[in-house]
Amino acid sequence: MVNGSTELVAIVGSPIAQVKSPENFNRWFEGNALNRVMLPIDISAQALSSFIDTLRGWQNLRGCVVTIPYKQQVVEHLDELSERARALRSVNVIRREADGRLIGDNVDGEGFLNAGRQQGFDAKGKRALVIGAGGVGSAIAYSLCQAGVSALSLSDVSHERVEALAQLLRSAFPGLPVSTRVDSLSQFELIANASPVGMGDSGELPLPQALLQSLPASAHVADVVTAPEITPLLALAKARGCSIQTGPQMALAQAGNLGHFMGATALVL
Ligand code: NAD
Repeated sequence: MVNGSTELVAIVGSPIAQVKSPENFNRWFEGNALNRVMLPIDISAQALSSFIDTLRGWQNLRGCVVTIPYKQQVVEHLDELSERARALRSVNVIRREADGRLIGDNVDGEGFLNAGRQQGFDAKGKRALVIGAGGVGSAIAYSLCQAGVSALSLSDVSHERVEALAQLLRSAFPGLPVSTRVDSLSQFELIANASPVGMGDSGELPLPQALLQSLPASAHVADVVTAPEITPLLALAKARGCSIQTGPQMALAQAGNLGHFMGATALVL
């Protein structure tokens, strides 16, 4: 039960009713007999800057997860950013230090890598393809580079987005081959869909059928889409004999990274 000494963490966005983090965190806090609670906070765009200021003085709050639509907007209000949050200009978690300073990171990519590790997949030295160069795709691609992939290819229907991300990664990771041309899947050991394609009952695939013909059975195929859990891409990969990684696995693995950054949970919830 919440009492006067309950420690708080929060998740801020707008709308907020759809988020799953409060359930995951509060179940974990309760299961581990911790007097902590996660609050879902729906803040209007006009109130965001004063909310961030309030966080500095909010002494029984350890940190705050940031979700749509504020991942980019909070960046300019924080006191310090991790290297990747600075490069991506995107934050999905804030830690409040004891002196009130606010530090931002983006652990979308770490959650993806963690889910992979839990499936026995290690990205180091692997040739990877990331489909989708938006917020989540950029974070995943950045973390794959940090984790030491040997080569990275990027694909997006937006030429502008994919080239901008390739440019960012080439300057952050000089020497790592980053390509925006995909003629065959045969060389890839990891294929990650970080686009919304396959969501709901669309039945859509994020790559043309002709290209998917070359999907090797040895590849690890991952999807960020959370519903359905087995997307058309994952169903195809599974039928081909590939190992697969789902969106809900990433979301759950990431909860550990978010909580760990705020100092509120173990790395694996
Ligand atoms: P976004 O809008 O920032 O980026 C999506 C990108 O996909 C865009 O650049 C778009 O051009 C590209 N795209 C669309 N169709 C494409 C196609 N056919 N081929 C290649 N690229 C294509 O969105 P986002 O914030 O990056 O979110 C992407 C998805 O990730 C959403 O479905 C979201 O629900 C999901 N997500 C999952 C988790 C998780 O933990 N599993 C976490 C966050 C977001």
